[in-house]
Amino acid sequence: MAEDQIILKHVTKRFTTKTLGTVTAVNDFNLNIHEGECFSFLGPSGCGKTTTLRMIAGFEDLSEGEIHLCGQPVSIKEKNLYVPPEKRGLGMVFQAFAVWPHMNIFDNVAFPLQIKKVPHDEIRKRVKEALHHTSLDNMEDVYPSDLSGGQQQRIALARAIVTNPKVMLLDEPLSNLDPKLRESMRFEIKALQRKFGFTVIFVTHDQSEAMAISDRMMVCDMGNIMQIDTPSNLYNKPVNRFVHNFLGQSTFLHVVLNHGQVYARGDMQNPLPLAIPEHAEREMVVATRPNAIDLNRDHGFKTHIYSRVFLTDTTEYLVPMGDQLLKIQTPHRIAFGKGEECYVDFTHVMWYPEEDESA
Ligand code: ATP
Repeated sequence: MAEDQIILKHVTKRFTTKTLGTVTAVNDFNLNIHEGECFSFLGPSGCGKTTTLRMIAGFEDLSEGEIHLCGQPVSIKEKNLYVPPEKRGLGMVFQAFAVWPHMNIFDNVAFPLQIKKVPHDEIRKRVKEALHHTSLDNMEDVYPSDLSGGQQQRIALARAIVTNPKVMLLDEPLSNLDPKLRESMRFEIKALQRKFGFTVIFVTHDQSEAMAISDRMMVCDMGNIMQIDTPSNLYNKPVNRFVHNFLGQSTFLHVVLNHGQVYARGDMQNPLPLAIPEHAEREMVVATRPNAIDLNRDHGFKTHIYSRVFLTDTTEYLVPMGDQLLKIQTPHRIAFGKGEECYVDFTHVMWYPEEDESA
């Protein structure tokens, strides 16, 4: 089992402003990130991702709690212990820290080594290596303005790896790139990680990006951790409706449980083909993915097609169930006409209480 390289214990950050009063940006975060792991912070805008990253980097003080990096305490509020960013040994690519346009690539990449007063020959060697690993060979004299967005992003990556950090913090590093380039840069980041073995914390609000790059991810909302798990567990076993909805398309069906049967709310005559879960309450919400529902002609809950829309890869149907319309997406070959009788069966569902604070 890999060692825990980044540990957050009861980390809280409050901001006080004249207009908003006191806002808890990060509420009692406990996190253990393993050595060599690619770990993403994922959540909607304002959920506390960047603030957490800035506290790990040392740019932001803690209101409460402690942070340990590579076995050493770097921030402990109670003891007033604080190690400044340049002594934390981290590589960083922040969205706001773009490349410096007035410096050529060599100077951009060499900068962190120059600050550390690394000997000149050593700087030349290490910059050359960093440029090689980011596919910028022989570009030392070029200025960033002559390069594409993707190449500029590589300069920032080269500058981050040139110090040979054990931990790399990446805050929305791909957000300024077009979708194709984003995808290829993801692979490049993963390849660099494999080559150098550093631990990565990747901040994004893009679900598919986080899924593609992460070993594990933390999903947060409004300053609270909702769930920490692998991408597939987060997708298949979300702990609440917020995580379910945030990680993919969701269909929520309000149901009522009665005498061992499950009914769609508003129709207590026709039971649904669902087994009652453990810890059932009378009113619950059944969650599933629109593309994981079996729409067919002979088994399940009998209903009809209320509407249908032809999308790029799928056909999307709405079918009545009690007082609700269930969204279903199927491959184009499973074709039903508007008004046609149909049956609905469920393959994989999650159950949530009707009263779910996250919703
Ligand atoms: P985004 O995806 O938009 O960058 P985020 O998840 O990174 O969002 P944070 O930037 O960490 O969110 O902000 C969390 C909360 O803390 C927000 O409500 C934000 O307004 C507040 N906040 C962040 N920095 C400050 C600050 N310097 N002063 C006051 N409030 C702040």
